[in-house]
Amino acid sequence: TDQTHIALNDGARIPQVGLGVWQTPNDEAAPAVKAALDAGYRHIDTAAVYENEEGVGEGIRQSGTARSDIFLTTKLWNTEQGYDQTLRAFDASLKRLGTDYVDLYLIHWPSAHRELFVDTWKAFVKLQEEGRAKSIGVSNFCPEHIERIVAETGVVPVINQIELHPDFQQRETRAFHEKHKIVTQSWSPLGQGKLLGHPVIAEMASRLGRTPAQVIIRWHIDNGLVVIPKSVTPSRIVENFNVFDFKISAEDMKILNALDDAGARIGPDPMTAS
Ligand code: NAD
Repeated sequence: TDQTHIALNDGARIPQVGLGVWQTPNDEAAPAVKAALDAGYRHIDTAAVYENEEGVGEGIRQSGTARSDIFLTTKLWNTEQGYDQTLRAFDASLKRLGTDYVDLYLIHWPSAHRELFVDTWKAFVKLQEEGRAKSIGVSNFCPEHIERIVAETGVVPVINQIELHPDFQQRETRAFHEKHKIVTQSWSPLGQGKLLGHPVIAEMASRLGRTPAQVIIRWHIDNGLVVIPKSVTPSRIVENFNVFDFKISAEDMKILNALDDAGARIGPDPMTAS
């Protein structure tokens, strides 16, 4: 019943379930992070553009959990791409978080039209060499973007955080990641909540004596994905972490895997997103 971890290609390891805090202002982020750490979470996913890094830092301090026990991720926003800009933006994130390192720093989007993601990645490599970003990765990168940064630097990102939920499973991208030892991390893992009422998932949940959110989170875990469900409601934060004492059977995995629908993307297409 202990939480599970996934090994990263740089030797670090990441707790498989973390708390997402998108669309959570500072004054809600602090108690949500504290509730999560109290419930046993040791992984928090924020971003500069969420404008709640201060609240996340505050929640960590209020919880009294040792910083070294927490896996903290933040992300570089698109408008801060570029070598020098990245280094400055990273310092500003650390200051807001009230910490002197992050466990994982992600390029939030390739934002390819800027033609800056390679220079940005070079700054990420420097931050990792300095030990201030323990691990470095990307988000919303397509295979061609990853191939480009690897060709230019030789450094493979540890993770690609992408939109992924039972009706949008990203199988091709996951196969590419596997080939390159990149972990796949699922954003909007619950489909932003829209999947919780899905009849197939609801039926399975009641049959298993679980909630729909728990079934979906467990589906991510059993697929080897890292998953960061968002909630600010303490009871749901606890519920979403209560997933380490069961597994989805092979038969039920088949049923869930069959929900894949290429048209179910919620967010922007990374190939064209600005
Ligand atoms: P999600 O799929 O985690 O769904 C969150 C919503 O589901 C909540 O707002 C709530 O309404 C509902 N919910 C959560 N737990 C529930 C429960 N137990 N019972 C009932 N309802 C419940 O959506 P998300 O916030 O979009 O994604 C999670 C995290 O992923 C974000 O907070 C953020 O950290 C990250 N993210 C990253 C990117 C990116 O571009 N890298 C984009 C979107 C999200």
